[in-house]
Amino acid sequence: MTTKAPLERPKSGEPFLLTPGPLTTSLPVKQAMLRDWGSWDSDFRDMTAEMRTSLLGLLGRGSQDYDCVPMQGSGTFAVEAMLASFTPKDRKTLILCNGAYGKRAAETMAYLGRPFAILDKGDYLPPRGEEVAEYLAADAEISHVVAVHCETSSGILNPVEEIADAVAASGRKLLIDSMSAFGAIALEPANLQFEAVVSSANKCIEGVPGFGFILARKSALRAARGNSHSLSLDVHAQWVHLEKSGQWRFTPPTHVVAAFLQALKDHDKEGGVKGRGARYTRNRDVLVSGMRQLGFETLLHSDWLSPIIVTFFCPADPAFAFADFYSRMKARGFILYPGKLTVVDSFRVGCIGQMDEHVMRDVVSAAGDVLKEMGVASAAPPEEALVERARLAA
Ligand SMILES: *Cc1c(COP(=O)(O)O)cnc(C)c1O
Repeated sequence: MTTKAPLERPKSGEPFLLTPGPLTTSLPVKQAMLRDWGSWDSDFRDMTAEMRTSLLGLLGRGSQDYDCVPMQGSGTFAVEAMLASFTPKDRKTLILCNGAYGKRAAETMAYLGRPFAILDKGDYLPPRGEEVAEYLAADAEISHVVAVHCETSSGILNPVEEIADAVAASGRKLLIDSMSAFGAIALEPANLQFEAVVSSANKCIEGVPGFGFILARKSALRAARGNSHSLSLDVHAQWVHLEKSGQWRFTPPTHVVAAFLQALKDHDKEGGVKGRGARYTRNRDVLVSGMRQLGFETLLHSDWLSPIIVTFFCPADPAFAFADFYSRMKARGFILYPGKLTVVDSFRVGCIGQMDEHVMRDVVSAAGDVLKEMGVASAAPPEEALVERARLAA
């Protein structure tokens, strides 16, 4: 594999964010925010239109049946808007759950007071097409299925295509939380059927936080009229307003949109979804092989590792404490991410953002130095973590 020229590093000396959003953005993305736009003015309306068109373009083949609706707030606001706008009040929605974001979708349904069921796979394993098909065959009440594309809490890449096939074959409808994967992993409507997908500005497109967006079938958008419980989180109402006036319904995050347009241009320059995904994959491969050489173990079997974020078990060595490891890594310019697992101690390292394999090599070498400094002789995880992992994977 050829090695590309290193990405430019931040001159400010700010640390790299090895986190799944907010993440490290480029200088041009930050600079795009250095002026003000009127939300009502035609310049900003043009920016909104350009953004919606570019995002639809990222879907690829089959995108003509979809439209793009941006939504103010963090990603969770957009997920809630999607669920509220597209799930029915009188039939059941099946949530495929293998981590915190699946759980959050279920919690949202509970807040909405809408019927739902959960297929829970724990922290380590993906929901497979076959079991989804079986579940749907056994419950005729279910009309919609919610899948998380990359479950960011563990970093697992769920097999969304086989899930989509199972859902389509049983005549049900699929909603996808592709928050942390969209823009780096393809989701072509020509390859898999779905009603709507949701993502946000500060993940794989490498913008700054402030809004999410829903790409939904136009037929689903038309049918969503009056379905949301919420005035502001109403995808149909936002869509109608955008179509009619070119404007967002309420104050848009103007600077965030300007930064995002710059990020979309850079995404295109890098080779779109393919190019972005290739850089992240390389980041992941360099990180995982380097950390394994240090003795760390990944939570997941290699088959399910995403190019987005990787979970490592904390070493069993009593000299290791995550808080100490974290601050020493930060002093070297790297912000890590604590784990989000229920059973064992872990931490996560993000592969997304303005970072390349050169940065990832520096991350590994900093981790090695820090272990030495802390007096950690072995980075191997506790025996019970590996036993648990093997038991669940069997
Ligand atoms: C980041 C993320 C979200 C949204 O989280 P916010 O903190 O609200 O931006 C939702 N789902 C997944 C899978 C995510 O990675």
